[in-house]
Order: sequence, then structure tokens, then C-alpha cells
Amino acid sequence: MKRLGLVAAIVALGFFLAGLMTPVQTQAKTIFVTIGTGGVTGVYYPTGGAIAKMVNKKRKVYGIRATVESTGGSVYNVNAVMSGDLEFGIVQSDRQYQAWYGLAEWKEKGPQKDLRAICSIHPESITLVAAVDAGIKTLQDLRGKRVNIGNPGSGQRQNSIDVLTNAGIDWKKDIIAEGVKAPEAPGLLQDGRIDAFFYTVGHPSGAIKEATAGRRKVRFIPITGVDKLLKKYPYYAKAVIPIKFYPGAKNKEDVPTIGVKATFVTSIKVPERVVYAITKELFDNLEQFKKLHPAYGVLTRKNMLEGLTAPFHPGALKYFKEVGLIK
Ligand code: GLU
Repeated sequence: MKRLGLVAAIVALGFFLAGLMTPVQTQAKTIFVTIGTGGVTGVYYPTGGAIAKMVNKKRKVYGIRATVESTGGSVYNVNAVMSGDLEFGIVQSDRQYQAWYGLAEWKEKGPQKDLRAICSIHPESITLVAAVDAGIKTLQDLRGKRVNIGNPGSGQRQNSIDVLTNAGIDWKKDIIAEGVKAPEAPGLLQDGRIDAFFYTVGHPSGAIKEATAGRRKVRFIPITGVDKLLKKYPYYAKAVIPIKFYPGAKNKEDVPTIGVKATFVTSIKVPERVVYAITKELFDNLEQFKKLHPAYGVLTRKNMLEGLTAPFHPGALKYFKEVGLIK
């Protein structure tokens, strides 16, 4: 009897100790997070990669392992972050606005109230590339042509529709609209299977380099006459495509267009310490980060807090307050 009592006491002590240890063990466990980006020839994909690399370098400090996923773009990313399939996403500022207020693709689902902002990143411009031999020089010349407006799930699809509508072009009737993913569009253009494509992207991007460096000559089509559009939508601003990045294009000067910003988002459900760590690594190492891509050249710690609609995630806010970026 005595022995049995002793065994019971040891077992009980074992359970007690295990109970004490559990919280310690959980904290030491690596947290895996994934960043949703875009096509591999865009700018989101290398941007996600650069952010992941910074955090992974400090794996021992934070216990976070970040990976990157190539996706269909902004709309896909918002939805995947909201469903918990992804922890982070890069999303156009206009798409963040629409998701937060329940507009465009989110009209039926309603406002995405769990969406949280971390910061904005590089500027992106609505880029319309057209084949010279298709005789396209202006937006009006797109009538009757085969034009890729972007896959459902991409950020650019609504931008293309906005620009066409503003020019009085009905995308369902006046053009033959295609909905393929951005990385496929340059090949289709070079093969003569489409005449033009839209892509909302930072510059330079691999996709636009590919489209402008092929045998079939192409030009960028200016997107002008946009005053009405800029009044109607708060998230569009005038922008230019720097022609120096694309010597193969027919244009000789920077091309006027409109643009948005790439932004970095997450969900309220992602733990504060994870978002804090990612924000801190990005902002503490901003000067090094900026060297990784010409599109980041304009970034400052201050302007990276602009262009956001959803509230800051508490983890990001904690960092911004700590360094005095937010009072
Ligand atoms: N702006 C595009 C989108 O939201 C992605 C651009 C990129 O991958 O760089 O779908």
C-alpha cells in the first residue's frame, strides 16, 4: 500500500511539473508564418522574400520562420489573410481601402474588419503595354483588341476596369478582355495571342522587362484624362513609368499614368509579438532593405506610414510608438 502511495505521489508530481513546463515549451516553439505576394516576375515576390530573410536571420531571437508564397495578387492575399491561410500579405493600397470598407470584390462579403495594416512599401503604377504592330497608341485604340485586364484575384483587374471605364470603354463589350495572371501576359503578347496588357506593378519589374525586350516591339500607353477618376477615387495619384528601366520599349520619355502603393497587411488574429518582430526588422534595417530594389528608393520611415486604410496592427503600433514614429 505504501509503495502504491509513493508511485501515485511521483506520478502526481510528474503531472504537476509537466503542467508547469508547458508554457515555457510553447514559447520556445518556432512560429511559422507565410507572406502572400504575387507573380514571380512582379515586385511583391522579391519584396516578400526580402522581408522573410530579415526575420529568419533572427530566428534564434524571435522563434519565427517566415516563408513566401507566390499568389494571384492583392485580392487573393486579402482573402487568404482573412481566412487564416496566410499570416501576411502584400496588397495594393486601393485594395486595402476596398476590403476595409466592403467595396469592389468585398461588396457581398462586407467590410473586412479583421484586416490590419503594418506599413506601406513601394509605389506601383498602372502599366499598359501594347504591341506596336497592333496600332495601339492611345486607350481608344484598345477598342476591338484582345487585352489582358488581369486575373480575378489580382490587384490590377479593377484598375484596368477603372481606367477603361473612365475612357468610355466598356470592358465587356468594346474589347476582348482576357483574365490571365501577370507572369503569363508578356509571353502571350510576344506570341501575338494578345495585343496589350495591364499590370499594376512597381518598376522595374521582370514581367515588364520581358515584355519590352522581345522580338515584337511594344510601347507603353499613357493613361491621361484622369481628373474625374482622381476626384472619384481617393487612392489613385498621378505617377510616371520611368523609361530608363525599359530601353527596349518604343517610348523615349517617361510615361504618364496613375498609381497606388504596395502595402503590407496582416490580420488582428496574428500575435502581437510576431507582427512586432517583422515590423522592427523591416524598419531597423530600412537602409539595407532599400538597396535591394530600385522601387524602394523613395521609401522613408515616415512615408511608409502613409497610404493605409485599415488600423495598425498592435504589434506594428508598439514598434512605431517605441521609436517615436507615432506619438
Ligand atoms: N499589384 C499586383 C497585384 O496586386 C501585384 C504586383 C507585384 O506582384 O509586384 O496583384
